[in-house]
Amino acid sequence: MVEEKSNQLGDFIKGRLLFIENYCKENHLDYKKVANEIENETIRRAGSKEREEFLKTRLFGGLLLPTSILPNWLDKVFLEAMSFVLKGPNTPLFTTTSKISCIPFEAGRFNAKRQADTIFKILFQNRTPSDWLKHGFPALYRKCYGDEAGDKLQVIEHDPNHFEVITDNTNLDKASRIDCSTVIGYLYGSLEKLNARNIVITHDKCLAEMPVAKKLCSFNITFEI
Ligand SMILES: [Zn+2]
Repeated sequence: MVEEKSNQLGDFIKGRLLFIENYCKENHLDYKKVANEIENETIRRAGSKEREEFLKTRLFGGLLLPTSILPNWLDKVFLEAMSFVLKGPNTPLFTTTSKISCIPFEAGRFNAKRQADTIFKILFQNRTPSDWLKHGFPALYRKCYGDEAGDKLQVIEHDPNHFEVITDNTNLDKASRIDCSTVIGYLYGSLEKLNARNIVITHDKCLAEMPVAKKLCSFNITFEI
């Protein structure tokens, strides 16, 4: 079996499950029914019997801890399945700007706010938005995407209210435009949490799904404080 890349994704996945519950509440949807549909859709996308088993026991079998180390493919498959089920017909699956919302954007935004109050509180406490972009974001990005991606992450300060984040998704199992939408949402929710105003994040340069040697993605971030 090919070695699978894993990271400390437990709390991120937990956040996705809580997002689904919250989304159903807000939109008056039957949570049990929706959760069941997402479970089926996730398993349908698994790609192998082994992975199906893994999903059934680890993701849906109640063995999920915030510190759980989980494979990247699980995050990808689950995120795609939940976005597909929740989005409804005629709604986009991903976005390239914080001005246009979508399910994975909202899931990332939700998780950022939740983790700012819980597991990553220390990365948010007494931080300005620019501090957080330079120091907090790289720390939690490394937890979610691993050391290789963490080493290659660039945060460029164009001026105090204008940043550019460049991720390198080469060799990353979960690289997709849907995943990039959660990054936009996560950055947006974090900056909201840090009381930044007029936040605009655009992601026009996305190579996540392109057949190129270096899968670079650039996120342009502006805000006021
Ligand atoms: Zn991208």
